[in-house]
Formats: sequence, structure tokens, C-alpha cells
Amino acid sequence: MSASTVFFSDLRASQKKNLLIKLVEIIDLAGLERIIKPRDLVALKLHFGEKGNTAFIHPVFVRQIVDRTKALGGVPFLTDANTLYGGTRGNSVSHLNTAIENGFAYAVVNAPVIIADGLRGASHGSVKIDLPFIKTAYVGREILDADALISLAHFKGHELSGFGGTIKNLGMGCAARRGKLQQHSDLCPKVKRKKCQGCGECVTHCAQEAIALLDDEKAFIDPGKCVGCGECILICPDGAINVQWNRDIPLFQKKMAEYTLAVLKNKKDKGLFVNFVTHVSPACDCYAHCDAPIVSDVGVVASTDPVAIDQASVDLVNRQLPAEGSCISGSVKPDDDKFRALYPEIDWAIQLHHAEEIGLGTRRYELISV
Ligand code: SF4
Ligand code: SF4
Repeated sequence: MSASTVFFSDLRASQKKNLLIKLVEIIDLAGLERIIKPRDLVALKLHFGEKGNTAFIHPVFVRQIVDRTKALGGVPFLTDANTLYGGTRGNSVSHLNTAIENGFAYAVVNAPVIIADGLRGASHGSVKIDLPFIKTAYVGREILDADALISLAHFKGHELSGFGGTIKNLGMGCAARRGKLQQHSDLCPKVKRKKCQGCGECVTHCAQEAIALLDDEKAFIDPGKCVGCGECILICPDGAINVQWNRDIPLFQKKMAEYTLAVLKNKKDKGLFVNFVTHVSPACDCYAHCDAPIVSDVGVVASTDPVAIDQASVDLVNRQLPAEGSCISGSVKPDDDKFRALYPEIDWAIQLHHAEEIGLGTRRYELISV
């Protein structure tokens, strides 16, 4: 497979050319015009951010893509699927409220928000892919039904996949509840009994009611109920809960890559991917906070290859100096892998390797700076 093209815009701007103009320029160069035909229903898949998180893509940038899509005759809508865990995006009503509170109101973004998998995440279509780990994928109905798909991913660290970019935004983000369970289900965190203080925070937080306090006031996770969402790991104030990383993380990443292929199966030549390599926070936008970015803001990349764009984004981040005052400053040398520094046990490259193996795209790319 030959190298794919990834277009890159840095964040330099002038009065003549601001960042909004530059954004439209790179999506045009990446081929938006070829992808959208008049009257196409166009899903713009993004993460609206958990309430309290501020690292997600700024709605003003999203509006530029909406307006450009409309100018080409497309009919855009913003979308995401509901989450597995509690929090503010677990059903369509709270999800829509959160999206609006975070700035994704029609008056700002010029397009409606439609949650992809119904009121409680049960609305999906089945996509047969017969890959090694996923035979049938369960994808949010509205995303499957759209004529074209534009992924807008906030590129950042991620506690299960090392980094989160296009593959995470599509593979996990477009999956309905059943599909998310299917990807997470081999992960089950474990409580370190010695560390557990019995505060009960994890018990209250776990949406699956998988955690209980035993008679000795130590938490216990029922593997039969746990879906491996990983939330309790960050919730525990004493660091007493750990995922059993080594056994399950590679499988999780491979499933996510296979799901991405399922999401794109009926979007041949109808998908375009954009990564915002800005506010590169250490963890997912699903948390109700975001820590300081690990590197300075880098820019925006766009491509029609979901693998090449993620590889290019990792490389762009790893070329940066660690940001002063971030959680990795002091412990990381300039050339070190920033994502391995964040999560030493996680080999983020697995998702890219596997994605390449199943024919989703290539890790070889040519970066064209605009
Ligand atoms: S026990 Fe932890 S990982 Fe399992 S479902 Fe509950 S919060 Fe998620
Ligand atoms: S949050 Fe941590 S310390 Fe508190 S009960 Fe759960 S495991 Fe124990």
C-alpha cells in the first residue's frame, strides 16, 4: 500500500488568514468536495465533552465544517453515541443537555445534534465483518444511516488505548451500548485490598452496580457485572483500583480497530477524518475534568485515511517538548514517547498495527503542511 496523504495546518495565524480559514482549507484539500454530494445526510461525529471537561473541540471550529458542508449541498448533523457508564452522557436527554451546555447549541454550530443510538443506547444496526475478534459489530443507527461521515477527533492521551484519535472516535465512539460492551468486556479492574479505605466512592459511581463493600469494608468487583469501562480507576481517591492491563489492552485495541472498519464499511469514499492536536490532555474527554496539556498545541490534521492520520498525530505530539507544569514534565526527555510516559504499560501502536493488518489504512504517510 502506498503512503497516504495527511494535510497539516499549524496554529500560526494572521489577519489575512485566521485559523477558521485554515481549517476549511485543509478539509477542502483532504477532499471534502469529493465526499459530499448534494442532499447527502452528513454525520459529523465528535465528542461533546463530559460536563466539567474543557478539552473538547471548540464549537466555533465545528461550525466552520458545518457551513462548508452546507455550501457543498450536504445536510450535516452533529452526533455521538451514548456512554456505557454513568456521568452526563449516558442517555440521549442528558447527552443533549451536556452538548448544549458545552456550546453545541444550534445557534452556535448551525446544525442539529442527533444522538446516534437512541434514548438509552439500544438503537443500533448490525454490521457483519467476520474479523478475528469481532464478527458482528453494533453501530449507532443514525451513523449507519448517514450518507457520509466526517470524524472530528480531539487528539489526546487515553488510559486504555494510550492515545485517542480517529480510530477511538469512530471505533468506540460510534458503537451503541452493546458494541461498547463487546469491546470493553474482556477488561475487569481489580481492587488492591491493602490500599482500599472503604470510602464507597467507587460503589456509588459504578453504573453497572458491579462494586460492593464486603463485611470488612473493602471493595469487591463482581466480574460478572463489570463491563470494564475503567471509570472506577480514576474515581478511587486512594489508587486502590487497577486494570489488569497486560492481559487485555491489546485485545481492546484490536477490537476498537475492527469496529472502526465496521463503522466505515458502508462509507466507502464517503469518510473524511480530522484530528485536532490541541489541548493534548493526558486522558479521555469522558472525565469531568481535564488535566493540563502534555505538549503545546500543535495544529490540525485532515486525511481520508483513518490510520495514517492517527500515526501522523502521534508523531507530531512526540516531536514536541513536554509542557512545563504538565503531569509528564520533569520525568520525560524531549525525544521520549509522551504517551508511553503517561501510560508505560500501554503499547498504543497495537491499534495502528492491527488497523493496518485488517486493511483499514496505512501507517505510512506524507505530511503536507498548508
Ligand atoms: S467496576 Fe469499574 S470498570 Fe467495572 S463497570 Fe464498574 S466502574 Fe466500570
Ligand atoms: S473508591 Fe477506592 S478506597 Fe474507596 S471503596 Fe472504592 S476501592 Fe476502596
